[in-house]
Amino acid sequence: MRALCWHGEEDVRVDEVPDPQIVNPHDAIVEITATAICGSDLHLYDGYVPTMREGDVLGHEPMGEVVEVGNAVETLEAGDRVVVPFTISCGSCWFCEEELYSLCDNSNPNAEIAREVMGQSPAGLFGYSHMLGGYAGGQAEYLRVPFADVGPLKVESDLPDEQVLLLSDVFPTGYMAAENAEIEGDDTVAVWGCGPVGQFAIQSAWMLGAGRVVAIDRVPERLAMAREHGDAETIHFEEEDVYDRLMAMTGGRGPDRCIDAVGTEAHGTGLMGLTDKAKQQVNLEADRPHVLRQAIKCCRKGGTLSVPGVYVGHADNVPVGPLMNKALTVNTGQTHVQRYLDPLLETIEDGDIDPSFVVTHREPLERGPEMYETFRDKEDGCVKVVLTP
Ligand code: NAD
Ligand code: ZN
Repeated sequence: MRALCWHGEEDVRVDEVPDPQIVNPHDAIVEITATAICGSDLHLYDGYVPTMREGDVLGHEPMGEVVEVGNAVETLEAGDRVVVPFTISCGSCWFCEEELYSLCDNSNPNAEIAREVMGQSPAGLFGYSHMLGGYAGGQAEYLRVPFADVGPLKVESDLPDEQVLLLSDVFPTGYMAAENAEIEGDDTVAVWGCGPVGQFAIQSAWMLGAGRVVAIDRVPERLAMAREHGDAETIHFEEEDVYDRLMAMTGGRGPDRCIDAVGTEAHGTGLMGLTDKAKQQVNLEADRPHVLRQAIKCCRKGGTLSVPGVYVGHADNVPVGPLMNKALTVNTGQTHVQRYLDPLLETIEDGDIDPSFVVTHREPLERGPEMYETFRDKEDGCVKVVLTP
């Protein structure tokens, strides 16, 4: 089959690779009909994840049609149309039973690498390096889906792919980010980053009762989307001082809830202009205008910081002193996607939201390499790319 494969920093290629096979009776094979590129893929593209290997198949936001199931699979059969969450979860360990699906204890066959780095291992993820399972990803013609009774969401309505595809990751991720922000009546919510995750965090902040939403970025098309689609007030972080503006907007108190939908960002602020060696160390000086530090500084005393943005390793000098003295609450994590699939599908089917508003680029899989570059550089008004194998 054809698949988008990682070959090193800024080097992804469409390769011919072997078709995936059922290797466990709980597996299913899905023929991919649509598959998106995520901001998380950019951390791999930018070369920040050391446990990628040449030839790894990328992608964790796929959907398609089930073509084969292992003989222990009970809920799916060939012909079912499914959205596949990026988190691989067994459904029966302590964490899955607590609905903490992205922390599953049984889905990372390389858990010892993760344990060495983090003390314990989170769940395996599709297409996200050997530290997180080494699973082939879904930017390909076919995908092997382990624990097929736990992950995939069957879509029975005739909604087009584009409207349901983003349930695989960024819609639930924006939603969990807003839930993690612990929004209460009329709170002011500040969202750093107007990529797809930021856009869905903005939408979800309103769904959860925010009184005011302020969005921060520097890409004009993304700021415009946050205003026009998200009803947010916006701050262009290169044209205005973010702290000063947020204080002015909140009478000097600061936003009640701050969402970092940026994470490790090479091309916004943090790592730009560093040598490769410095990038490897990813240990920035404290005075760089990094989002996490800025959010801690801006958040009102006693407020909440929600961090869906992905950080790799020890990327930041986190100001623990201010965090403690301002009595901030921090909530973070990879999204427990399975938890949100049914309720968010319902919001789409009811017509409350059409997630395809973020999709700006639709291209064949063969154009994947150019699309990684376009998406990374935010060229051509690019907010979200959907590839079709
Ligand atoms: P993206 O790269 O499209 O968007 C990031 C945005 O942040 C860009 O628009 C960029 O201009 C902006 N930005 C950069 N520096 C900034 C700064 N200093 N202040 C404000 N904005 C700034 O990515 P995305 O797909 O929206 O994903 C966002 C983050 O969420 C990534 O780190 C991604 O890895 C992460 N993510 C996490 C999960 C999860 O489960 N927690 C899931 C998906 C994505
Ligand atoms: Zn993603």
